[in-house]
Amino acid sequence: MAEKKVRSREKKQRTGRKHSSLKVWEYYEVDGNTVKRKRSHCPRCGPGTMLSVHGNRKYCGRCGYTEFSKSGSTEEKSENQ
Ligand SMILES: [Zn+2]
Repeated sequence: MAEKKVRSREKKQRTGRKHSSLKVWEYYEVDGNTVKRKRSHCPRCGPGTMLSVHGNRKYCGRCGYTEFSKSGSTEEKSENQ
């Protein structure tokens, strides 16, 4: 006698919020036919990836590029090694 096992899959209900969507569109400002970029983009990942600003440095969450912006002297440093 072969009994067929029926597995009832329980659907997991996802509670809570997932990663909040990055509002990239807010980083742009359309002025007529030109688009102004409020944030600077990552030199490694290209214009598609914005750098998040933390205090006096900009950080790329994708590749880990960090750009320090000190007032007076512009010092650049990358941390990905
Ligand atoms: Zn990057």
